[in-house]
Amino acid sequence: MFLTYRALNLLSLIWMAVAFVIFPLLLKVRAPYGRHTRTTWGPMMSNRLGWFVMEAPSLLIILFFYVKSHNISSLYLNVVFWLWIFHYFHRALVFPFMTRTKGKKIPVVIVLMGMTFNFVNATLNGAYMSQFFDGQHITPVMFVRLFVGLLFFATGMYINIKADYMLINLRRSTSNGYKIPRGWLFEYVSCPNYFGEMLEWMGFAILAWNLPALSFFVWTVANLLPRAMANHRWYHEHFPDYPEDRKAVIPFVL
Ligand code: NDP
Repeated sequence: MFLTYRALNLLSLIWMAVAFVIFPLLLKVRAPYGRHTRTTWGPMMSNRLGWFVMEAPSLLIILFFYVKSHNISSLYLNVVFWLWIFHYFHRALVFPFMTRTKGKKIPVVIVLMGMTFNFVNATLNGAYMSQFFDGQHITPVMFVRLFVGLLFFATGMYINIKADYMLINLRRSTSNGYKIPRGWLFEYVSCPNYFGEMLEWMGFAILAWNLPALSFFVWTVANLLPRAMANHRWYHEHFPDYPEDRKAVIPFVL
């Protein structure tokens, strides 16, 4: 046994409480990577390698727990595990190598913070799923959760990936610069990729229906809402012709 049921739930509640503390800080301090990068945060490393190193633990840890899972014949459990694996396979092994960030750097401290974040999330979720997830007998309520959760997850993932690649493709003609993204959901919000990511993990929390999954969703919102607002402000500061009616991240709302 990796962690008891009580310990896992308690740790997830504490982890969620940390997100509530971090959220107001992130509204004030922009994590220095991407367009907000700064050289005052200590040693730097390659942006691409940084993303790979940051995200890979989430994939490896979940694969470890998948192999160790006591309930691996459950279809429901397989769905939950494979959604996570699919997401992190793309985020760790595909996304970093598709970005057009040649020569760009990321502070090592941000990479270490990202690794810690991914380590905790994957361990809490993996340990819970491998030991306590009861997916053998699918009740009608579970079926509804599976359906609704999958719908949100798949929609979110589609939006997240499509928006990320639309942004990446803006660099076809400009070396490392930025352009105003246009078309599709960008007409409504500055950061549809973050909107998609939040939908994804909300869907995951609905279909997994446990505290570790909820804590990951809470953390995703705590990370991405402030980041989206900072990106939105950044666009307005750097592009005088930035569309006025565009929101930051939630269409028509925020
Ligand atoms: P960004 O939207 O800042 O950037 C995505 C990519 O597009 C980067 O390569 C970026 O280059 C490039 N880009 C962005 N805007 C423009 C533009 N206007 N013109 C040209 N190129 C542009 O996303 P993040 O880097 O913050 O995040 C990447 C992924 O990771 C997203 O899918 C996000 O949802 C996810 N994420 C998830 C978190 C979570 O808590 N679950 C936390 C953080 C990220 P550059 O790097 O040079 O700016």
